[in-house]
Order: sequence, then structure tokens, then C-alpha cells
Amino acid sequence: MKKYRFASYSLIIISLLLVSLQQINAQGAKSVSEKSYVQARRVLDAGIEALGGREAIGKIEDLSLKFSGINYARNQSLSPDTAYFRGTVEGAMTLDTKGNRVIFEQASTLPGFRFHNRQIIKGEKGLVFDMEAKTANTFTNPNAIANIGRSRFPHVMLMTASERAATLRFLGQEDFDGKKQNVIIFSTSDGTQWTLYFDAATNLLTKFENLDTDSRVGDVAQEFIIPGYMSVGGVKIPTGRIIKRGGEVIQDFKVSDVQINTRPAESAFERAQGFEDLPANNPTPTPIVVELAKDVYLVQDAANGYNVMFVAMNDYILVAEAPINEGTSRRAMAKIKETVPNKPIKYIVATHFHDDHSGGIRTYMAEGVTLVTTPGNKGYFEAVAKGVRTIAPDALALKPRPPVIEIVQNMKRVFTDDQHTVELYDIGAGPHTKEMLIVYLPKEKLVFQGDLLNLPQAGTTIITPGNETTVHFADRLKALGLNVEKIAAVHGRTGTMDDLRVAIEKFKALK
Ligand SMILES: [Zn+2]
Repeated sequence: MKKYRFASYSLIIISLLLVSLQQINAQGAKSVSEKSYVQARRVLDAGIEALGGREAIGKIEDLSLKFSGINYARNQSLSPDTAYFRGTVEGAMTLDTKGNRVIFEQASTLPGFRFHNRQIIKGEKGLVFDMEAKTANTFTNPNAIANIGRSRFPHVMLMTASERAATLRFLGQEDFDGKKQNVIIFSTSDGTQWTLYFDAATNLLTKFENLDTDSRVGDVAQEFIIPGYMSVGGVKIPTGRIIKRGGEVIQDFKVSDVQINTRPAESAFERAQGFEDLPANNPTPTPIVVELAKDVYLVQDAANGYNVMFVAMNDYILVAEAPINEGTSRRAMAKIKETVPNKPIKYIVATHFHDDHSGGIRTYMAEGVTLVTTPGNKGYFEAVAKGVRTIAPDALALKPRPPVIEIVQNMKRVFTDDQHTVELYDIGAGPHTKEMLIVYLPKEKLVFQGDLLNLPQAGTTIITPGNETTVHFADRLKALGLNVEKIAAVHGRTGTMDDLRVAIEKFKALK
């Protein structure tokens, strides 16, 4: 009896073992991708349910809200060693999902600048209205509406992930803000991979992030954190948004006045009267070389809205400004080589350290070109040279070498040979930066500057209002006694002293 019972128990145990082995084998037959997808799908579906479910989300035809908060100007402060400038931001937006259109209005500040824009986007065509300058500018961007929706509304992000199911994978569990999270990943049609964090207890999306390259430090994660939720029309909407880049807060917004299905009037999407049209922005940069004077050239639109100046000296070339990134520097260098084939680039001058103006500096460093900058920027550019770039390796990452940096002593540096004179002046502390170089060519009565006078792009004679920075620039030109006729610029067309005067008059009239 006892023996028999033992035998039957062993049989049961053996058969149980077989069943579980069969299950393991059945699972083993599935690929890692399939298993990971199934897990991710479960997390995503629970996340959609937690937001209100597919049915409630499907009923949203339009959504409007107001937002306000702080922008922290990363790599855009008064100097590299001062805290990021805290700029206030206020705005409102309407996302008309049904009509595939958006109205987005925002007023913000940066050192020495005020911005107030209104955008109306229909499909891939957009119009930007500068509410202060009273100008209108068209643009084309097939991803504009998707980007605005995804980065502000979790339901848009999660429904996009659902449509891109083949790219869904489970990454694992991770703690965030002291809470366990289920983490999945998917990629949008533009190739961006988004990591989504869901609170394991509530299934709500708490954070999403992607990888990017920062001008200063190189490889970074950009995190979009949802601080909380409110319920509107059966759907959960974020109470705000915090953006971190490289672990540092660059934006902290609160959301208010959320409304769903108000069916905004058709007239809201029509353009208002009283705006002058600027030439349309080209979606892809098409640089052209403009001769400003003998041996002095401008690479116009090395990147959209960014010009680079260069001077062909007897034995070498001096370049002023390295905007945006390596792509911009490559386009500028190609145009320089095409225009002046037989001279090496020896110097690259950075007007100021701001990353949109100096993001392409590493390409010059990689070629051993001497960077000429002001004393306060030395540490910043040394850090830029040390930045870790494995996500998007550039020339310097592929062939590292120490940067050659020359500091402008006593606010002035002169480059000269028997036919050319180029003078650099540090115009000193202004509303935009503590140190700012301008490039002055006395014989040509020409000055090249960045951010000090921003006229609209070439192809129009409209003069837009200046700002506090423009006033400071005019004062400094006068104090330095420079004899200037032409003012070339990083942003916008080359102007005159009359344009500068009118821009300041228009600015004063706004106050
Ligand atoms: Zn700047």
C-alpha cells in the first residue's frame, strides 16, 4: 500500500515535470522578439486603459489648454559658469485631431530677447506669426503636428506606439521617483526610439525619454516627465510637463484650462490681418556663397537661418561662427573650399558660446583649426572637446585630438597681412552674454555679428524690431568708434547702419 502510493506520487511528479518542460519548450520555440513584444503589448494596453481606454480616447476630436512655466536656457546663459537663465513661458494650444490641425501660441524670454509667436499648422504646412514684429513666415514639416501631440499628450504617444506595434519591446522593470515602473520601447516613423515608463501600480505613463546628442556633453538622454494627471471628459491629461536633458531640468510647465471637444470655430484657423509675409523657409538648408567685399564671403544658410562668414587672407582662411552641428560645419567647409580651393582654414572665431552658434566647433577642432574665443569660454570649449559622442560620432570622436584654443587678450585681436585686416572686438557684458566677439573689417567698413541685429532672411527689405541686445550693440559700435556701413549677421540678411537705427526705433516704439 505504502509502496504503491509512493509509486503513484512519483508518476504524478514525473508527469507534472513533463508538462512544465513541454511549456518551457513551447515558450522556447518563441523568439525573444515575440516574447518581448507580448510583454510590451500587455504593458501598453494597460497604459491605454489607465488613461481612460481606447473608446474614450477615440471620442476626442479636439483638445485645448493653457500652459505656463519656466524654460532653463541650457548652454544659452550669460556665461558658461552662471546658472541657466530662467525664462518665463506662457501659452495656449488647440489640437484638432479630427481636422489634423494645430494652433500653438507662446510668449517667452531669453537674455536680451522677448519672443511671442503664434503658429497655425494644417497637415504639413505651417504659418508662424511673430506677434511683435507683425511678420508671417510659412514652413513645411510633415512631423510638426505629430511632435506637438506626442510630446504633450500621453494618449497620442500611446496610440502611436500601438500603431507601431512591430517596434514594441519590453525593456524590464526600473525604479523612477521611488516607484516600480514597467518600461517598454518603440520607435516612431521618423526613427526616434521612445522609452516609456509606466507606474507598475497604476499603469499610468510617468515618463518618456529618447537619446540625443548635446553640443556640450555629447550623448544624453532627454526625459519628459509627467508630474501628475487630471481627468477631463473621461480621459487623463497631464497637469504639467518637466523636461530634463543630461539630467538637468530645462523646462517646467503647468497646464490649466483643459477642454475637450469644444469644436473651435473655423475662423480660429484662419490668418489674422496686419502681418507682412517673409520669404518661405526652405525645409532643407541650401547654402549659397555671397561675396560681401573682395576676399570676404558669407555662406548664407549653412543651416536654416544661420550664416557663416569667411575671409581669404593671403596664406589662410579665417572663418567666423560654427553654428548648430557637424552637418552645418561640413556644408560651410565645402562651400569655403569650392570658393577658395587652395588655402587652409587656420582660424575659427566663435562670436559667443551659445550652443546654436558653436555646436559645429568640433568639426574644426578635428582638423586642427585654432578656435579664437574670449577668456570666459575656455573651460566651456574644453568640455565641448571632451564630450562623449558614441550615439552620433563626429569627426573629433573618430579621430580625437586636443583642441587648439586662442584666447582674445584685452578685448581685441587683429589678424593682418599686406592686403587684409580683420579685427576682433569683445564688446563686453551685454544683455545676451557677458562676453561677445564682433568681427570688424576696417577697410571694407563691415562688421559681422551674431544675435545683436537679427534682420529677416535675404529676399525681403522688412526691418523687424530689435531688442535690448540691439541697443547695446549700437552703443558699443559708437563707443569703439568703428566706421561701419555694412552689418553682416549670423541670423538674417546683411543690413546697414540705417537698418540698425530703424530696428532700434521700432523696438523703442513697442515698449
Ligand atoms: Zn546667443
